[in-house]
Amino acid sequence: MKSNLTYRQPLELALEHSLNFIENLDYESVSATTTLNELRQRLHKELSDDGIEPARIIDELVKDVNGGLIGSAGGRFFGWVIGGSLPAALAADWLTSAWDQNSVLYVTSPAQSVIEEVCGEWLKDILKIPKTASFALVTGCQLAHVTCLASARNALLKKSQWDVESKGLNGAPKIHVLTTDERHGTIDRALRLLGFGTECIIELPEDSEGRMQTDLLIDTLNKIKGEPAIVLLKAGDLNIGAYDKFEEIIPAAHSFNAWVHVDGAFGLWVAANNNLSHLLKGVELADSWAADGHKWLNVPFDCGYAFVSDSKSHKAAMTHKASYITLADNARDQIDWTPEWSRRGRGVATYAAIRQLGRRGIAELVERCCMYVSELVSLIGKLDGAEIIWKPQINQGLVRFLDPSPNATESEHDRFTDEVIAEILKNGKAFFGGTTWRGIRCMRISVCNWQTNESHIETAHLAVKEALEKCKARKK
Ligand SMILES: *Cc1c(COP(=O)(O)O)cnc(C)c1O
Repeated sequence: MKSNLTYRQPLELALEHSLNFIENLDYESVSATTTLNELRQRLHKELSDDGIEPARIIDELVKDVNGGLIGSAGGRFFGWVIGGSLPAALAADWLTSAWDQNSVLYVTSPAQSVIEEVCGEWLKDILKIPKTASFALVTGCQLAHVTCLASARNALLKKSQWDVESKGLNGAPKIHVLTTDERHGTIDRALRLLGFGTECIIELPEDSEGRMQTDLLIDTLNKIKGEPAIVLLKAGDLNIGAYDKFEEIIPAAHSFNAWVHVDGAFGLWVAANNNLSHLLKGVELADSWAADGHKWLNVPFDCGYAFVSDSKSHKAAMTHKASYITLADNARDQIDWTPEWSRRGRGVATYAAIRQLGRRGIAELVERCCMYVSELVSLIGKLDGAEIIWKPQINQGLVRFLDPSPNATESEHDRFTDEVIAEILKNGKAFFGGTTWRGIRCMRISVCNWQTNESHIETAHLAVKEALEKCKARKK
């Protein structure tokens, strides 16, 4: 009984504090309201010799982080591409911690193994990935890239009679990576981590819609004369949500025996919506796909998904045998597919999120986010001194703000755009981030949260208007 009480008090406090945080998201500042110094002062406590009572730790923690949390879990957050948490997913995530299972093998947690097995099937169904593909639940798209590209490395080098898992890359045939200049930085990091190095990248210029150009790809593949190659495509790029022409470009890449990997961190989710799924036409032809759960599906951090068509290469790249691990005969051992060893039950929150929304709920979530971003971009575009740089095709749009000074230069517009963003953040009613796209400084507008509604859009519109007016007045 005593041990139950030990847990009850801090957990009940955590529930109260969590609800208090979530229920106030619509009213608190979306940006941080405290300083680095203040946070350090509060959190850098003296390391005590004796332990502290759990309830007090929880109370103090909540007090100490006050003003240092960003409202990215709420509906007025439009920066980067960050989703919130669906109620069922959040609750399931708490249970995951309470259950504290090591989700590495079937024997360390049979239920977790089956939950991930189900998540894999559901995700492939929703994202229209071939049923025969293998999969892994990882921490995010970053590790999904690593998992997929490790599989690619295994498969491509096997074709050259090179066993990369035992020989490594020293002395191995060179693998070229063909991609475009607007790729996400996680691609470069994955290539570094896997020992390819970033010098293996051949960067191809995009077309005006942000897509890889098939003729340039074919020319380049011809030039490398049959040497192993990976072609990296995008399903929803980070700035404008561009989609490559999968139907045309994947068969072209395959005719040179290249491996095709798709970064679909958030963009792969349009597969769930019949009005948008045409953007993905042909994507199922790829060899591997990376997506996130913690963005558009609104699963709490951290959660990403890797899918690989060649399951043998995937398993060969990840599996490990050790004397003390017992592999299951016909159940799923996660260690065969994931780069981690010990890991939390990462499937639980995904399982709950998919069940909460269902197919229709996911389709509606996708559509609603796209609708709101369109609305917000066009409202901002009508403000005097604002300019639309990219009209959203999915849930990403770009605007910028023009320095009102006579004969203002491009770099003055860039600076002015950053000033307006800073002013919005200072005010705390909405949150946006800056980005540089094709040399132009922009404010990126991303809608990814299941909670974002009409009133959040209206508040954000007014917040931008107010900040813009203030910055313009300063120039006079
Ligand atoms: C967010 C994002 C990533 C990185 O995903 P993480 O989950 O942060 O690792 C990769 N590619 C694109 C297009 C993204 O939007």
